[in-house]
Amino acid sequence: MTRRVAMGRAPGAWEAAGMTISLWDQVCRQFDRAAAGTRHDPGILAQIRVCNHVHRIAFPIKRDDGSVEVIHGWRAEHSQHKLPTKGGIRYSMLVDEDEVMGLAALMTYKCAIVDVPFGGAKGGIRISVKDYSTAELERITRRYTAELINKNFIGPGIDVPAPDFGTGPREMAWIADTYQAITSNKLEALACVTGKPVGQGGIRGRHEATGRGVYFGIREAVAVAEDMAKLGLAPGLPGKRVVVQGLGNVGYHAAKFLQSAGAVIVGLAEFEGAIASAAGLDVDAVVAHRQARGSILGFANAIDLPHRDAALELDCDILVPAALENVIVADNAPRIAARIVAEAANGPVTADADEILRSRGVMVLPDIFLNAGGVVVSYFEWLKNLSHVRLGRMDKRFEQHALTQLVGALQRATGTRLSPDEIQVLTHGPDEQDLVNSGLEETMVNAYQEVTTIARRDGSDLRTAAMTSAIDKIARTYQDLGIFP
Ligand code: NAD
Repeated sequence: MTRRVAMGRAPGAWEAAGMTISLWDQVCRQFDRAAAGTRHDPGILAQIRVCNHVHRIAFPIKRDDGSVEVIHGWRAEHSQHKLPTKGGIRYSMLVDEDEVMGLAALMTYKCAIVDVPFGGAKGGIRISVKDYSTAELERITRRYTAELINKNFIGPGIDVPAPDFGTGPREMAWIADTYQAITSNKLEALACVTGKPVGQGGIRGRHEATGRGVYFGIREAVAVAEDMAKLGLAPGLPGKRVVVQGLGNVGYHAAKFLQSAGAVIVGLAEFEGAIASAAGLDVDAVVAHRQARGSILGFANAIDLPHRDAALELDCDILVPAALENVIVADNAPRIAARIVAEAANGPVTADADEILRSRGVMVLPDIFLNAGGVVVSYFEWLKNLSHVRLGRMDKRFEQHALTQLVGALQRATGTRLSPDEIQVLTHGPDEQDLVNSGLEETMVNAYQEVTTIARRDGSDLRTAAMTSAIDKIARTYQDLGIFP
C-alpha cells in the first residue's frame, strides 16, 4: 500500500519508504533541480513554480435510469505569464487536485519549450468513461463546460482546453457547442477549445499531432551519432527495437510513425495485457485484432506476456510509455532494459525512477519536450479559428502555379523532360495538413536543438535542460513585462 505525502525528504528516499509523491510534487522537484542551476531572482522563480488558480467543481448529473449522481472535476491554471492558458481535459478515476495542478505545470513548461505563446492549464473529471453512456458523457461534458464558463475558466483569450486521457474530438465539439450556446462571444467562440473535429473548426493533423511529435522527437534524438554511441546504439531509426505502452491516441500514432520510419515494434501493452514479438508487430493489425476480439492478447505470431507491465521490461532499444503517469517507478527502474525511454505520456517516470535511470546511463526524452506536438498543433488550430481561414487556402494555388512555371522554365532551359509524377511532386502547393506537419516538424526539431545545446553547456540530463529552457523563457517574460501593478 502506498500513500501520498508532501515534499520535504531527500530525493530517492520516497519510494524506498513505500510512499509515492503526487505528480505536482514530482514536477516541483524537477523544477527545483533545474532552477538551482539558474541565476534568476528567487521571487521570480517562486512565481513561475506556483499554481496560480485551481477551480474545484462538484455538480449533479441525471443518469439514464433517472438517478442523480454528483460528479467531481477540477480546472487548474498554472501560469498566466502568457494568455490564454492551455491544457487538456482528462476523464479518469485517478484525477485529483494535485494531479491536475502537476499536469497544468507541465503544460506551462511544455509551451515555453516549444515557443507556443500560452500559459499552462489542465482539467479533469473523476469518472471512468466506460461506466457512462454517450448521452451521460455528453451531459457531464456540457455541465462541466457551463461551470467553467460561470467562473470565467474558459474562453479564447482566457483558458483553452484540449483532449487528453479519456477525451477526444467528440468531447471537444460538445465543449465548443456549449460555449457557443451560452456566451455572447460568437465571433471567436470556436477558439475556446482545440482538438475539435475538422468539420467543427478543428484542424487537419491535430488528432495524430502528439504521436507525430513524439516520432519527430525520437528521430532527432537517435540521429545524433555521438549520443547514440554513448548508449551503444547505431544512429537512425531503421531497425531500432521499440516497445509502446498504451495504444490510445498518442501511443497508436507514435507506434505507427516509428514503424513507418523502419523501427521494429517488438512489444505492445494495453489495459488488458501485453504482447511481444522479436520479429515485429504490425500496429494496424494489432489494433484490428483488438477491435475484433476486445483484447490485444492472442495476436498471431506473438507471445502473451504474463502481465501488462512486463512489456516495460522487455529487451528493446526504445521504450515509449504512452498511457499514463507513474508507470516506471523505483521498483522496476533497475529492470528497464531500454537504452532510451521516450516519455510520450505525461509523467510516466517518477522522480526516484528518473534518478535510477540517469545513474544507469539511460537516455530519457522528457514529456515536457517529447509530447508537446499536441499543443503545438492546438496552437495552429487556435490561430485558424481566430483568423477564420483554413491554412493554405490563400496560397496553395498561387504556389502551385508559380512552381509549375518554374519547373517548365527549368525543363526548357535544360532540355530535360520530367515524368507527370515528378512534376506533380515538384509543383504541389501545400495544403492544411502539409503546413501543419511542417510547422510541427520545425518546432520539434528546433526545440530539441535548443534543449541539447543547454544539456551540453550545463552537462545536464535532457529533462533538466528542457526545464532550464522553460524557466529561462518564462523568467524573461516576467522581466520584460514587469509585475502588475
Ligand atoms: P487515450 O485515452 O487515447 O489512450 C490511453 C491508452 O492507454 C488507452 O488505450 C488505454 O486503454 C491505455 N491504458 C490505460 N492504462 C493502461 C495500462 N496500465 N497499461 C497499458 N495501457 C493502458 O489517451 P491519450 O490521449 O493517448 O493520452 C495518453 C497520455 O499522453 C496521457 O498521459 C496524456 O496526458 C498524454 N498526452 C496526450 C496528449 C494528446 O494530445 N492526446 C498530448 C500530450 C500528452
